[in-house]
Amino acid sequence: MSARTRDGGPGGRDASPPGAGATRTPRQRLRALLRREAFAFGVLREVLGLSLRQLEEELRHVARSARGQGERLVAEPARCLACGFRFRDRETRHLHAPGRCPRCRSERIADPSYRLERRDEAG
Ligand SMILES: [Zn+2]
Repeated sequence: MSARTRDGGPGGRDASPPGAGATRTPRQRLRALLRREAFAFGVLREVLGLSLRQLEEELRHVARSARGQGERLVAEPARCLACGFRFRDRETRHLHAPGRCPRCRSERIADPSYRLERRDEAG
């Protein structure tokens, strides 16, 4: 029986070496994850084992360094699950989800999610 993995996403090319050891830093792991698909803030925290502030810091670094690598960090803003209110950049000074909705005061806020996108399509 052949076990075929379904790794081949639409992106195709993956820069990270396959199974390259456990010595990668959280930042490198974060980049690898975000290149594959979008992840919610809380999920990233769990996967990488970082505190809220640590993950914010890492995301800022990734966003900044992405430009030099022909990539950009795409953020899907946090959203209120109760009324659907979307937190735009203005409302979210911080990268993690805000405590409560300014419109309906609900505390059921969906985390913002992030992914890395290549920018070389325009060339
Ligand atoms: Zn709301």
